[in-house]
Amino acid sequence: MTDDTHDEGEALELDHVEWQQDDDGTEWFVHEGWRYELDDDGYAYAVSEVSETDEASPPSATDGDDASAGEGSVQVLDATTAIPPVRRPASAEIREPAPATAPAPDDGSSPLLRLSGVRSGYGPLPVLHGVDLDVHEGKTAVLFGLNGAGKTTTAMNVCGALPTWEGSIEFDGQDVTKWNTKRCVDAGIVMVPEGRRVFPELSVERNLQVGSWSQRKDGDWVASQREQVLDYFPRLRERLVQLAGTLSGGEQQMLAIARGLMAKPKLLIVDEASMGLAPVIVKDVFEIVRAINADGVTVLLIEQNVGALDVADLGVVMSQGRIVKTLSGAELTDRSVVSKLLMG
Ligand code: ATP
Repeated sequence: MTDDTHDEGEALELDHVEWQQDDDGTEWFVHEGWRYELDDDGYAYAVSEVSETDEASPPSATDGDDASAGEGSVQVLDATTAIPPVRRPASAEIREPAPATAPAPDDGSSPLLRLSGVRSGYGPLPVLHGVDLDVHEGKTAVLFGLNGAGKTTTAMNVCGALPTWEGSIEFDGQDVTKWNTKRCVDAGIVMVPEGRRVFPELSVERNLQVGSWSQRKDGDWVASQREQVLDYFPRLRERLVQLAGTLSGGEQQMLAIARGLMAKPKLLIVDEASMGLAPVIVKDVFEIVRAINADGVTVLLIEQNVGALDVADLGVVMSQGRIVKTLSGAELTDRSVVSKLLMG
C-alpha cells in the first residue's frame, strides 16, 4: 500500500477500536466488518472484508497470511480506494499477540502433542492460519471457540484426516504431519467425532468391538480394556445388547467415548461431547473424562461449553483459525474470561 491512495481530508478518526498486533508486527483492527491494517504513514487501510455469508469464495492472491476467516467464508478485496483510511490515535492501546503456546510445565518435559504454525483448509479455502498448540502428557486441554473457528479442522489435522498445508505436528516425539489416519490411530491418536456417530444398527457390544479393531491381535488387552471402559460407563454395561441407535443422546455420547477408548489412545480427542446434552449429563460426561485422564490418557476436548474448564489443565481459545488466548493455572477458574472471548 502506498500513501497516495487517499486524500488526508477523507481520513476517519476512530477512538474506540480494539487494536491488535500480529506476530509479524502488523497492527490491525476490525471495524464494521472490515479489517484495517496500519501502514507506515500512520493511517490504517481497510484490506479485507470479513463476510459471514455461507457462500465460500476462494482466497485471492493477496490474502496470504492476513486472510481472516469469517464464519462461512472470507472475501478479500483491495478496498484501499473505496473506504477512507483511519488514523491511529496516538493514545490507542495495542493488544499484544496472545502467547501461542501454553507455558511448559515445571518439569520442563516436552509436549506429547505439538502443533507449530499449522495452516490448513478445504480445497482453496484456508481455515487455519498458523495454529500453535502444546498439550503435555497426562493433561487435559480444552480447545474453545465459536462455530466455524476451526476447532474440528485442527483436530482433523492432528488425526491425519485432513492434510496440513504448512507447519508441523509432532506427537510422542515423532513428526506425524504427513501421517494418515490409520497410522495416527496406531500411534495412539484417537478422535471421538462431533455428533457421536455410533453405529446405530449395531449393539453396544459390537460398537465396542469395532472400536478395538486396531488392537484385535491383543485379546487380553481388549478384554481388560472392555472391563475398564464398562467401569467408566456402567450405563453401557447394562445395555450391552441394545442397539446403539436406540440409546439416549447422553448414552450415545458415552458409547462414542467408550468406543474411542477401545482403540488404546494415548491422546483422546473428543469433539463437542456436550453438544445437545442436558447440563446434568454434560457434568457426568466431563467427570468421566476427568477419570479417564486420571488413569493416564491425555485428553483434548473441543468445546463451547465453559463447564469443561472444571476438568482442564489448559484452556485454549481459537478464533478465525488462530489461537487467540491460552489459560492455565488460576486463570482456569474464571469462566468469564472464556465466556467473554467466546462472545467476542
Ligand atoms: P463447530 O463448533 O461449528 O464444529 P469448528 O470450530 O469446529 O466449528 P470447523 O468445523 O473446523 O469449525 O470449520 C471451520 C471452517 O471450515 C468453517 O468456515 C467451515 O464452513 C469450513 N469447513 C469445515 N468443513 C468443511 C468442508 N468439508 N468443506 C469446506 N469447508 C469446510
